[in-house]
Amino acid sequence: MPFDNSYARLENKFYQRINPTPVKQPRIILVNRELAGEMEFPLPETDAEQAELFSGNKPPQDSEPLAQVYAGHQFGNFVPQLGDGRAVLLGEFVNSSGKRYDIQLKGAGQTMYSRNGDGRSPLGPAIREYIVSEAMFRLGIPTTRALAMVCSGENVFREQALPGAVFTRVASSHIRIGTFEYFASRNDYEGVKTLTDYAIDLHYPHLKEAGNPYAAFLGKVCSVQARLVAKWMRIGFIHGVMNTDNTTISGETIDYGPCAFMDGYDPATVFSSIDHYGRYAYGRQPSIAQWNLAGLAGCLLSLIHTDTEQAKSRAEEIVQGFGPEFRTHYFAEMCSKIGLKPDEPAQELLNDLLQIMHESKADFTLSFRMLSKTVLGNGAPLLSLFNGKNNISEWLEKWKAERERQNITKEEAAQTMDRNNPAFIPRNHRVEQAISAAVENDDFEPTKKLIKILHHPYDEQPEYDEYMQPPEPTERVYQTFCGT
Ligand code: AMP
Ligand code: MG
Repeated sequence: MPFDNSYARLENKFYQRINPTPVKQPRIILVNRELAGEMEFPLPETDAEQAELFSGNKPPQDSEPLAQVYAGHQFGNFVPQLGDGRAVLLGEFVNSSGKRYDIQLKGAGQTMYSRNGDGRSPLGPAIREYIVSEAMFRLGIPTTRALAMVCSGENVFREQALPGAVFTRVASSHIRIGTFEYFASRNDYEGVKTLTDYAIDLHYPHLKEAGNPYAAFLGKVCSVQARLVAKWMRIGFIHGVMNTDNTTISGETIDYGPCAFMDGYDPATVFSSIDHYGRYAYGRQPSIAQWNLAGLAGCLLSLIHTDTEQAKSRAEEIVQGFGPEFRTHYFAEMCSKIGLKPDEPAQELLNDLLQIMHESKADFTLSFRMLSKTVLGNGAPLLSLFNGKNNISEWLEKWKAERERQNITKEEAAQTMDRNNPAFIPRNHRVEQAISAAVENDDFEPTKKLIKILHHPYDEQPEYDEYMQPPEPTERVYQTFCGT
């Protein structure tokens, strides 16, 4: 297989070389043939061979498995050493056009970074990451991908014995802000430089031409994160653990732990069982992203300028730039949800709508999806979501006026909206139902069905209408868990 393991060529201090720990009885459950095709990844023919490969029992020839070291701010507290404690990077697969894919097995056994963990993953979180990361990709959000999932045939022990799984994740890299923090916190500035040069080469080679490539690198990471978080906001995604070790420099969403999608609109929405103070609530994600980027800036100071004061002011200016850049992306994303160009009156109109939705706890996804029906003359489904209790009708009038002022036809508006307001998202209760069926009854049909529906999140799929619906009160998910 065409592996070219550039990370393994860095010095030893960047990782531990380690093979996945074999599992007892691997059984292949999910394989992403479409992604394998795009990667030109040669899938083994038989289920047994696929199970051996994706469990880590038989790593591909030419892979050079390793666990990456990193640090990170977890809920604001600095942890000087984390690292892949339950994941092994097999290496970088390169296709015929030279595109690189990091292939990582999650749940692959202990490494020197496991601390007290078992290095394993329960089946539930593996299913969640598979479903949600693929849905995110189909929704148009930068993300790591899911290539495969196997059941390990072993139990993992959390509060109870649970079936274990190994999940195969594909990413453009696994370099995190926490990777920089690991070296910077040890005052290993040579390490920071090696890592930054490596990251620039890998992700943003054109920045080498910039006057100050390191300042440009910081700016670029700020940009890709601003763009990413704006997209999360558009679809109501709540990452749940926006620690610096879960923030990539590629701008891909990574580490789907206790992530969830908002049902009724409320910026304070939190699902994660460990987020006691709402640090990572839906509405706080932009400011947390900026906080994380300030952490990256701190690591890069000595590269940005030899004079500390000058370095600081330059870095600060760049990180400040996140604010306006985020807002530009945010309003572009959000105003597309009401079919308008993001000028000031449209922004105000959007905010008014969010306010009304907040007051009536209207379902975020469904309300927006129903707007395109409304503009084309069928207002009933939307009005029913608002219980007639508030001023939605008044808002609809203003919206119509604004659309006319912007010279946008009904049809154009509806088209924009249907491309930006998904009909289908991985609703938490549906994901939980899929996980329960798998864990309790070894039944993977609900998981497969959900993956299939979420393959076309913006298309009408009348036969799956119930998957568009918010949860019934009894189905409602209030808390999610990361399964560590
Ligand atoms: P996460 O919450 O998945 O981002 O993980 C945070 C840190 O804890 C990472 O360094 C993980 O590798 C580590 N970790 C999480 N679960 C386990 C586990 N079961 N065994 C070993 N390390 C783990
Ligand atoms: Mg993580």
